[in-house]
Amino acid sequence: RIRRRELRSPHGLDSFGPCFFSIFKSLVPSEDEIVKQEQLLLSLKKLVKKEWPDAELHLYGSCANSFGVSNSDIDVCLAINDYEISKLDILLKLADILESSNLQNVQALTRARVPIVKMMDPVTGISCDICVNNRLALVNTKLLKDYAQIDQRLRQLAFIVKHWAKSRRVNETYQGTLSSYAYVLMCIHFLQTRKPAILPCLQGMEATCRVTVNETECAYFDKVEKLKNFGARNKESITQLLWAFFHYWAYCHDYTNDVISVRTGRIISKQEKDWTRRIGNDRHLICIEDPFQVSHDLGRVVDKFSIKILREEFERAADILQYNSNPSVTLFEPYIP
Ligand code: ATP
Ligand code: MG
Repeated sequence: RIRRRELRSPHGLDSFGPCFFSIFKSLVPSEDEIVKQEQLLLSLKKLVKKEWPDAELHLYGSCANSFGVSNSDIDVCLAINDYEISKLDILLKLADILESSNLQNVQALTRARVPIVKMMDPVTGISCDICVNNRLALVNTKLLKDYAQIDQRLRQLAFIVKHWAKSRRVNETYQGTLSSYAYVLMCIHFLQTRKPAILPCLQGMEATCRVTVNETECAYFDKVEKLKNFGARNKESITQLLWAFFHYWAYCHDYTNDVISVRTGRIISKQEKDWTRRIGNDRHLICIEDPFQVSHDLGRVVDKFSIKILREEFERAADILQYNSNPSVTLFEPYIP
């Protein structure tokens, strides 16, 4: 049922450590870029305050969860307590405000699953998506950021996986492949389940941070500065982890029965979640539980065509890391249809 191969990392892959590390370094946003992001946020805050003095703007997504690569768009959330006016009207009003300032390509996407206003700032060249009152996204942004502070191998692994996914075009939710958020959760879960573990399960520990968002209780241990040595007993290098990550998703994950769950830090069964059959558009062909919205499967965008593409890409990556003589180049070769 599950193909298993030799679980040993190939000899010699560690000699590529410096190559993978320099790829990671080249993806980290520059100081200059971060300054520009802050500039843009500040000017947006000024515009918004004029219309809604009590509103707040927060960064979320990859520019705030520490998994952002250079030249990414920024994600902003407008937090507003105005019950007189509907969310969609707020978005339309916001689009008006932005349009009449000097922002370009302003577009309100009111029918998206998460409605947003998109725009581009000609001063900094940064594109930006703004949503309204998406507080769950703010909480999961903080969770990811907190995990990233425990062991630096998480950020390195996730940057390389995201870079691979973008190069191979398997980071396109509208095409049935996975979101960046899903890939980061896959990396966290993978490091939680190494032996010895590299990451703890923060939601399984005594909660030091608690918020309730739309009836969902979000609670976990967030004093991560106390966990700096958590993964020290595990000596695996970034190349070994990269190899093992793709090997797991290519040859070891049980797609028929298993759900990966960062919330519990283990594998749980599809049976337990009642994710064994297709309901509506949710096919559950690869199951990634959202840490807070537990009925939400981040793999639900994957269909019978894209699951095949995804698994072939996992196998390609695993095989390159196993056999290829130039893995740090071949792995990221652009996908050409
Ligand atoms: P990228 O660098 O590719 O932009 P990202 O982390 O910003 O990565 P997005 O897909 O832009 O990823 O998502 C932005 C944020 O929105 C995520 O970090 C997460 O907080 C939230 N988010 C995205 N998709 C989901 C989802 N399906 N369920 C819950 N939250 C989500
Ligand atoms: Mg983003």
